[in-house]
Parts: sequence; C-alpha cells; structure tokens
Amino acid sequence: MGGRGQVLASRGHTSREINMAEARRTVLISGCSSGIGLELAVQLARDPKQRYQVVATMRDLGKKGTLEAAAGEALGQTLAVAQLDVCSDDSVAQCLSCIRGREVDVLVNNAGVGLVGPLEGLSLAAMQNVFDTNFFGAVRLVKAVLPGMKRRRQGHIVVVSSVMGLQGVVFNEVYAASKFAIEGFFESLAVQLLQFNIFISLVEPGPVATEFEGKLLEQVSTAEFPGTDPDTLNYFRDLYLPASKELFRSVGQSPQDVAKAIVKVIGSARPPLRRQTNARYTPLTALRAVDPSGSLYVRTSHRLLFRWPRLLNLGLQCLACSCFRTPVSPQ
Ligand code: NAD
Repeated sequence: MGGRGQVLASRGHTSREINMAEARRTVLISGCSSGIGLELAVQLARDPKQRYQVVATMRDLGKKGTLEAAAGEALGQTLAVAQLDVCSDDSVAQCLSCIRGREVDVLVNNAGVGLVGPLEGLSLAAMQNVFDTNFFGAVRLVKAVLPGMKRRRQGHIVVVSSVMGLQGVVFNEVYAASKFAIEGFFESLAVQLLQFNIFISLVEPGPVATEFEGKLLEQVSTAEFPGTDPDTLNYFRDLYLPASKELFRSVGQSPQDVAKAIVKVIGSARPPLRRQTNARYTPLTALRAVDPSGSLYVRTSHRLLFRWPRLLNLGLQCLACSCFRTPVSPQ
C-alpha cells in the first residue's frame, strides 16, 4: 500500500495532488470481496469530492477481481486492496502495518457470516465461528485502531449490524445474538469515545440481496441438522424457509442502497448512533417498539408463521407493492 503521498509522488503527481491525497480520510473496510463491503468500497473510492482513501480488505485476495473491476480507475488512486482476516491478530497487525502511521480515520466493520437452522442441529463450533467473526472480529479491529484514534482525538467507527441486532428472528438465534452483542458493545463504547471525539454508528439493514442469503440457503439445503426432531425440521423447511425467501423477495434491498446509506453516515458531521436502511422493514421492527414487554412481537410472529402463513405471505407481498417503494431509498 505505502503512504498516500509516497504512492502518488512515485507516479509523478504534482504537490497539489499529493496534498489533496494527504487531506483524504483513510477508510478501512473489512469483508470487501462481495456484497455491501464491495459496494461501499467502490462508492467511497469514487466519491465525487475525493474525500476518501479506501483500504478495501478481504480474507482471500484471490477474490479481489470483482472489486478491482468495479473500482476501475479508482484502483491504485483512491482505493487499495489488502488482505485481512478479522479472526486473526497477525492478519490485522500485518494489514495495519501497511497503512502509514497505522492511521485509520474511519473503520467499517462489515465482515460477517450468517447461521440459520434448528438449534439442535447446529454445532457449537459453527456458533462460535459466528461470534468469532461477527463480534470478536469487530472487537479485534476496534482494539487495533482505537489507540491511534484516541491519540488524534478523532475517528469514526461504523459497524454493519442488522435489524436482527434489534429484534430476534426465528431460526436465526445465534446470528441475531451476535448482532445483539454488537449493539450492546458499541452502544456502551460510544459513551466513552465521545469524550475523545470518536463517533460510533451502527447501520442496521433488513434483508439484503447479496451472497449472504445465497450462501445460507445453499448451506441449509444440504444440511441434515442431526438430532432435530421431525416436527421442528418440518417447521423449518416448510414454513420458515418459504417465508424467508418471500421476505427477501418482497422487502430485500440492494447492496448498492445499503452502501449509499453508509456513505451518508460516514459523510455526516454528527454521525447517528443507529441508522436503519430499509423503510419497508419498519412495520416489522415497530411491533417490538410498540410493546416493550416483547409479547406483541413474539405472539404476532408466532401466529403469522405457524398459524396463518398465507396471511404472512400476503402481508409481505403488500409491503412489496409499489406504494411502499418510494421510502425505501436510504435515509
Ligand atoms: P457477503 O457474504 O456478501 O459479505 C460478507 C463478507 O464478509 C464476505 O466478503 C466474506 O468473505 C467476509 N468475511 C467473512 N468472514 C471473514 C473473515 N474472517 N475475515 C474477513 N472477511 C470475512 O454478505 P453481505 O450481506 O454483504 O454482509 C455484509 C454485512 O452485512 C455482514 O456483517 C452481515 O451480517 C450484514 N447484513 C447482511 C444482511 C443481508 O441480508 N445480506 C442483512 C443485514 C446485515
């Protein structure tokens, strides 16, 4: 990667161009080989005002082709690609050592994995992997960049959470738990960091049409979930999976839209602690907000899934109808 000015000087850029590059905020993003991370890296690197120097990282550099193609002319200018496995201390240290002064102005914790299925059929190792990636991966990165941000008395930590960090979803217990952990951790940290002029933003997308869903569906279509009783398996396969597919079809957002919402959060002078990205999903989160006891949400979800699946389907189709389309654009 090298220093920003150093890279440009070696390419024969003028001192004005080098100064402009020096003024850019360095944004480090995890999980950029696909989905939201890839889109975000490209949108920030192509910022019309050239405000950002993007370090787009991924676990496996063999997958960098799509990102590089999408970045186009920004590659090597406002975008550099680097290896980073959020589950490895060595990988994080190695990645940061390539950034001059280890200075990261904006950290985007985006890397994440899902896990779906009947609890009895999921191994503890698979559950631990979800927490290692989604929770401890984000914590590891924050610990690495925080000393520098505190020293400079500035910084912004953005975390791609989920609406499942606010509201549990059937057959997604462990994934939701990892996002709840993220929400609690970063809300707590936000209080202290404000004293250092460092902001935290939790971005909470609803369903997003990325490889995430594809990978999960592939996983569950071949998984046997050993030890799960036949009733639970039937509920999962015959009720949950079709409803989940309909949810993605009806209210799913594009990764471009989610990235746009994150760009806005990064660019704002007073970044919000929380930002949901999908207005079409809000009727579902509202159920929890309306009744703090949680009963309304649990009972309504139970009835819709187990007793009135047709009504659930119809409701989702209503959410998808054109009258709900306008407010979907990122706030
Ligand atoms: P995605 O699968 O396209 O992207 C996830 C990225 O994380 C991948 O590039 C993957 O390689 C990377 N990753 C996984 N483990 C890693 C590790 N150990 N180190 C580094 N990178 C690793 O899916 P996405 O939808 O773009 O997911 C991005 C984020 O959005 C995730 O945190 C996910 O939980 C969150 N999210 C997704 C959805 C959705 O429906 N797709 C909804 C809400 C939130």
